Amino acid sequence: MVFEKLEKRIIISGIIEAITPLHIGSGKPEVEIGEVDLPILRDPRGQPYIPGSSLKGRVRTEAERIARKMGMDVCEPPDVKNMCGSRKSRVEDFCICCRIFGTAGNISLASKVKFRDAYPLERIESLLERAGIAIDRGTGAVARGALYTIEAVPAGAKFSLEIVADNLSDDELKLLKAALKSVEDSALGGSSTRGFGKVRIAVDCVRERSAGYYLGVEGEKAISGKDVERWLTA
Ligand SMILES: [Zn+2]
Repeated sequence: MVFEKLEKRIIISGIIEAITPLHIGSGKPEVEIGEVDLPILRDPRGQPYIPGSSLKGRVRTEAERIARKMGMDVCEPPDVKNMCGSRKSRVEDFCICCRIFGTAGNISLASKVKFRDAYPLERIESLLERAGIAIDRGTGAVARGALYTIEAVPAGAKFSLEIVADNLSDDELKLLKAALKSVEDSALGGSSTRGFGKVRIAVDCVRERSAGYYLGVEGEKAISGKDVERWLTA
């Protein structure tokens, strides 16, 4: 384990809005021959939500793609044996994505970024159900009798977004911002090939806090309104 001081914490808050239907699966069924339903994930009150781990996974994937495009050497999750914690002997040599999002392995490094579970801002009363046809992965043909129903959150639904990032370097923060933007331009959740999962990620407040803030000897720096756009593109 690597221990760190709290130098700077950044709390990014806002909303995630579904622009097209959003399917965050409960991860249970696989599409198989026969009738299959793909339910969405629900919280204990029966409301859909987006787990922080799903958000983090998508943001990390985009960060990896961007970092590689920039010519950086980036390891290949999710298999731990291909990640820096297994491949590298010093934390200083870890790739930028492992430094931001963490790695397991012989040397484990905690994520500097936490994504809170995103809950609906308003109660979602009804969900969409769309019929799908399972395609046989081997032959590419429609699997016989393979109609299934996919459940999704309707477009327009809004979820709370909160990301807490500790001690990011300037480069790491820049990559995180770029990855968030890139998720917006790609998709979140399942069935993106049928147009699901287009989202708008709207940041409305960024707060910067130091250890002094928690000790009550320093204020926080809050960025909101038009300044957020400037902060995001800085
Ligand atoms: Zn790595």
